[in-house]
Order: sequence, then C-alpha cells, then structure tokens
Amino acid sequence: MAEPVFRRLVLIGVGLIGSSVARIAMEKRELAAEVVASARTQATLDRVMELGIADRVELDPAKAVEGADCVMLCAPVGAYAALAQAIAPHLAPGCVLTDVGSTKQSVIRDVGPLVPEGVHFVPAHPLAGTEYSGPDSGFTTLFQGRWCLLTPPPGTDAAAVEKVSELWRRCGSMVESMEPAHHDRVLAIVSHLPHLIAFTICGTADALEDESRQQVLKFAASGFRDFTRIAASDPVMWRDVFLNNREALLEMLARFMEDAQAMARAVRWGDPTYIEDRVRLGRSIRRSLIELKQA
Ligand code: NAP
Repeated sequence: MAEPVFRRLVLIGVGLIGSSVARIAMEKRELAAEVVASARTQATLDRVMELGIADRVELDPAKAVEGADCVMLCAPVGAYAALAQAIAPHLAPGCVLTDVGSTKQSVIRDVGPLVPEGVHFVPAHPLAGTEYSGPDSGFTTLFQGRWCLLTPPPGTDAAAVEKVSELWRRCGSMVESMEPAHHDRVLAIVSHLPHLIAFTICGTADALEDESRQQVLKFAASGFRDFTRIAASDPVMWRDVFLNNREALLEMLARFMEDAQAMARAVRWGDPTYIEDRVRLGRSIRRSLIELKQA
C-alpha cells in the first residue's frame, strides 16, 4: 500500500462530495492516515459515525482543524467566508487548505485573504456529482475517470499543489490546473447554465394549468424526465453556485437566449435547414462526449 498523502485530513462538510472523499480515504487509507469530519449539524456527524466513514467527528470547525496537515472545505460555497474566518487562526503552519467548491473566483475572493502565513491554499473542483446530497449519498467511485480542476493562486507552493493533485489521482481523477476566471466561464456553460435551464423548465411546466401539468408528469419520458433529474439537486448548493458565479452565468445565459431566439425564428418562419443543422450539432457533441468517455 502507498504511503498516505496526508497525516490528518479534515473534511468540513460531509455531503455527496465530502462523504465520497471520506469513503475513499477510509477504504484505502492512501489519502490520509486519519480522517476527521465536521458539518453544520450534529445529526450529520452522528450519521457519519454510524456509516463508519470517518475516524472522528467534531462539530466545531475550529477544533476540527487543529493538528491537521490537510483541510478540505466541502460545504456550499456561500458558507466558505464564515468557515474560513472560524478556522484560519487554528490552521497549523504547513497545512494545506483546499476545497471542492463549484465556483473558484468566489472561493479565492472569500478564503484567500484569510489564509494565514505558512498555510498553503490550493482551491480545487472535482467535476463529478449526482443530484443526491447528504452523507448517505457518497460513493467511492464518484470521481473515477472524472476531471479535477485546480486553480492555485500564483506563487502557491508547488509541493502543496502536487499533494492535492496526488490525493485526487488516488480518488481516480485526472487533474489539470486552470485560471480561476477561465474555470468559472467553462463551468458556467457545462454545468451552471444547464442546471438553470432545468430548474426553469420545471417551473414552467409547474405553472401550466392543472390538466396540462398532470399530463406533463404522466408523459414525462419524452424528454422532460432528463431535466427533472438535474433539477432534483440541492437548493442551497445551487443557490450559492448561481450567486457566486453571477457574471459568467449571466453571460452564458444571454448567449443561450440569443441562440434560442434564433431557433424560435427558424421555427416561426419554417427554416428546416437551420433546425436540422442545430439538431445535428447536438448529436455530434453527444458523440464526442461518448468518445472522450465523459458521457
Ligand atoms: P451536500 O451533499 O448538500 O452536503 C453539504 C455538506 O456541507 C453537509 O455535510 C452540510 O452539513 C455541510 N455544511 C453546510 N453548511 C455548513 C457550514 N456552514 N459549516 C459546516 N458545514 C456545512 O453538498 P455537496 O453536493 O457535497 O456539495 C458540497 C460542495 O461541493 C459545494 O461547494 C459544491 O459546490 C461542490 N460540488 C458539488 C457537486 C455536486 O454535484 N453536488 C459537484 C462538485 C462540487 P449538514 O448536513 O450538517 O447540513
């Protein structure tokens, strides 16, 4: 067995992402020799102990991080500023502070200025997830074959970046570094906008008059169903993602609305070539994803 990457890994937040990391860490013991979990509620921590996915739990994040050589924030990004404020004075010199948040400029804005001298801040984002949340929803293969993007600020200690990269490789991920602003634009189109559309289409369907709404649910298999899976995601997490990637999300939404208008015009004026071309493009994008094993 390989030497653990860290001595003590502290996970703050043990929902889908945190509990998946915890499960991998406990199963293979290659991520860390010891796993400590912290969350917002004692009920979650009790469940973590029942599931046996941490060695120890601690409700107070400031106490949880004591003596850690790696702290990973796995809570909704809107909670990061207050969490960073609470833990910063208790981080040991040399500790690696990382995270899994879906937005990266906001994390650097909220956490960066609070990181004490001698602590290495390596923001990260595993591009893996499901619509489920909470400590029961995690599983050890979640990150297998998926990308994990790191956005270390300039001048970050290379050894700390390498340790975080190694942790994610041991979770089964491919790792790449990226500028935080670029990350947020890419994620706005591949993840945040699709979620916005899914939440919106469910709202649109729900606002239909009674009879039509019932038919929507009855015949959902015709496409609507796929949107409902995405729309089943955690409300707090997504509220925080939208509010913390505001600019990029609004830019992608504006582009999308222009393209949707163009499609509407083609439908209105009966332009079969335009419609066919767009559908063809959709198919070819799907095929590329399958070839890249990201489908
Ligand atoms: P989740 O399943 O809803 O779990 C959130 C966890 O954070 C829970 O353990 C919760 O504790 C804890 N928490 C919430 N507020 C907290 C606070 N103020 N202090 C300490 N702990 C707090 O969420 P998730 O899906 O794992 O997402 C976690 C992070 O990963 C988010 O930043 C998200 O953007 C990112 N992410 C999510 C996905 C995805 O698809 N879900 C993918 C990649 C990255 P309680 O249970 O006690 O409330």
